[in-house]
Amino acid sequence: MKSTFFSKLVNNPFQDPILYVRFRREKDAVMFDCGDVYGLSVREIQKISDIFVTHMHVDHFIGFDNVLRCLLNREAPLHIYGPRGIINAVAHKLKGYTWNLIKEYPLKIEVCEVHKDVILRGSFYATEGFNKIDGPVTAFDKIIMIKEGLTVEADVFDHGIEVLGFSLHEDTQININKALLLERGLTPGAWLNELKAAIRNDIKDLRLRVDGHYYHIEELCGLAMITRGQKIAYITDISPSEANIKKAIGLAAGADTLYIEAFFLAEDVERAHKRNHLTTAHTGHIARCANVINVEITHVSPKYITMYERIKLEVKEGYPPCGSLRAAPSMS
Ligand SMILES: [Zn+2]
Ligand SMILES: [Zn+2]
Repeated sequence: MKSTFFSKLVNNPFQDPILYVRFRREKDAVMFDCGDVYGLSVREIQKISDIFVTHMHVDHFIGFDNVLRCLLNREAPLHIYGPRGIINAVAHKLKGYTWNLIKEYPLKIEVCEVHKDVILRGSFYATEGFNKIDGPVTAFDKIIMIKEGLTVEADVFDHGIEVLGFSLHEDTQININKALLLERGLTPGAWLNELKAAIRNDIKDLRLRVDGHYYHIEELCGLAMITRGQKIAYITDISPSEANIKKAIGLAAGADTLYIEAFFLAEDVERAHKRNHLTTAHTGHIARCANVINVEITHVSPKYITMYERIKLEVKEGYPPCGSLRAAPSMS
C-alpha cells in the first residue's frame, strides 16, 4: 500500500537541518525546521501549509523570511508550530520589514506556541499589517495537529532552552479488495464506508444491508485490507539527559524513519553535555530502543566534515545495547 506522504532532507547533515514532507493526495506539504531553504524551489515552498519549528536558533529559523516572501500572495494560511517564544519570534521577524503596501494581500499566519502543558496562539494577517492578534489558550497533550488522516505529535525537550521534537503518522489505512468484492457478487455502495468505519472503531457486532440482504460484519471483514500507517519522527538539538533520551525513545517508538541529530562523536560526550546536543552513541541508543526501521542523520557538527563515515558507523553500533530484539537500524 502506498504511503500518503514522502519525506526528504533538504540539506546535507553539515548544513541546516530541514525535513520536507509532501502529501500525495492533497498536493501540499509540511516542513520540519526552517533553516536555509535554498535547496527548495519556490514551487515547493508554495506548497507548505504547516511548519514545525524545533527552536529558534539561527540554523533552524533563518529561512522564515524566504518562506514568507514566497507565500505573501497566497490565499491558504501558513500554520507555524514552535516552542516557547515562537509567537514573539515571528512577531519580531515581521516587524523587521515595512508593510504599507500589502493591505490587499491575503496571507494569514497562524502560530501555535507549545509549552509543557498549554498551547498559546497568535495570528498575523497581511490585511492588518501583520500586527499580532492573540488567540485562545488550550491544553497541550502531545497532539498538535490532526488533518486528512495524519497526526502530528510533539514533546518538549531541553536544549538549554525548550525545543520541540515531532512525530508524524498516518492513520491505519483500510482498503477494499475490489477483486474479492466482484468475486462475491456484492455491489459497491455506502455500506463499504460503514464497514471501514466499523473496522476502524473495532465494532464487532453489526449487520450491514448489502443488495437487499443483511450480512454480519464478520462475513464482510475479509473484504478489507488493513495497512499500518507510516510513521516518521524528527528530533534534533536536545541535550543528552536521561529525561530527554526517554522522551525521544517514546516519541520515535516504532517509526519507519527517525530523522535525528548525531552532533558529536561518542568520544566528545563532555562537549555534547556542555553544548546540549547528542553524540552518535546517544543517537544509536535512541534509535535502537525506539525500535525504528531507518535512521537518517540530520545535523552533525561541521568540524567532522571529513569524518561522516565514522559518524554513521558509531550511530549504527549504538550505545549501550539495550536488549532490543530488532537488529541495528538501517542507514542511508
Ligand atoms: Zn542546530
Ligand atoms: Zn540549537
